[in-house]
Amino acid sequence: MNESAIRFEVTAQDGTARAGVLETRHGTIETPVFMPVGTLGTVKGVRFEALESAELDARIILGNTYHLLLRPGVEIIRSCGGLHRFISWPRALLTDSGGFQVWSLGALRRIAEEGVEFRSHIDGTLHFLSPEVSMEVQATLGSDIVMVFDECAPGQAAHEESQRSMERTARWAARSRARFDELQRQGMDTGGTAERVGVSGAQALFGIVQGATHLDLRRESLERTVEIGFDGYALGGLSVGEEDHVMYDVVEDTAPLMPRDQPRYLMGVGTPENLLEAVARGIDMFDCVIPTRSGRTGQAWTSRGKLNIKNARWARDSRPLDESCECSVCRRHSRAYLRHLYITGEMLASVLLTHHNLAFFLDTMKRVRQSIRSGDFARFQQAFLEQISFGSE
Ligand SMILES: [Zn+2]
Repeated sequence: MNESAIRFEVTAQDGTARAGVLETRHGTIETPVFMPVGTLGTVKGVRFEALESAELDARIILGNTYHLLLRPGVEIIRSCGGLHRFISWPRALLTDSGGFQVWSLGALRRIAEEGVEFRSHIDGTLHFLSPEVSMEVQATLGSDIVMVFDECAPGQAAHEESQRSMERTARWAARSRARFDELQRQGMDTGGTAERVGVSGAQALFGIVQGATHLDLRRESLERTVEIGFDGYALGGLSVGEEDHVMYDVVEDTAPLMPRDQPRYLMGVGTPENLLEAVARGIDMFDCVIPTRSGRTGQAWTSRGKLNIKNARWARDSRPLDESCECSVCRRHSRAYLRHLYITGEMLASVLLTHHNLAFFLDTMKRVRQSIRSGDFARFQQAFLEQISFGSE
């Protein structure tokens, strides 16, 4: 019923790595893609003009249901015409369901079959999220890609606990699907004036595969999720503290079993190394706060590994952050200047470091796509990983 919301096609394959094209009603996205995180309706420290510029060219960004639900609240976003209009972003948006965030609240939340009651981390007020409420909020936000409301098991959870959680996720996925379909129908019934019922356009819905690090549970979760049927499939509950090789094992085992002709999304991942390793195992989409958060804490990601701008060794260094980066920050500013900005607490330090980090992540993905198309991915990956291990000097 929702066939037109997105279209996905794998256009090249190199080993298990895939390159493809994802069409949304807010533009075309080449995959594998890294999606910058715009938690509160802003990719922190980056103007939208920069995100749209040829230099970054971010085609899709994330919004967080949990954070937007608390501030500014659904009613304000509804009255401003949905998230695209509220933040003035004409390109694609993906929203998470809030499941991971409320789960992360720990003592501040109570999970039951009906949904999750939680206290705001800001003012302690009581709120409720369920599959149905999450679908309603995401319909109002009007994102191009909606995520089902899932439950995340702790990374090191035992089999029994992970199984209970995975089974609840499957039940919640079915409830998400049912409410989502209702909302989409209502949106369509109003003949384009969808805002009356809070749906600001046709949306796609992705299912989430859980099961912690247990491969049998991951397979069962995938089967049950595919049985319900979604526009794309995500691996959730990874990069939550487990070692990298454990995550790679889950991806390697699960990704090849995911529907071939639909997008595969690894949620919350990761470092440049993680991205390449997961692309090599067949993943198409990623999101992570690393480039933006690191930008605010003085960390630069470069082709020669991580660079801590606070370090005194850069005090007189006239070289750019990354000598092989073509971004506007690297073309203009020295490590010495960026360090000075950071040490003196100037807000421009965060802005410039975040810009470079995003440029590095997005450019890396661009080169990943090119190497897959030209059948050269394995060699590209090896050279990239080798160089990153050298470290900055
Ligand atoms: Zn740069």
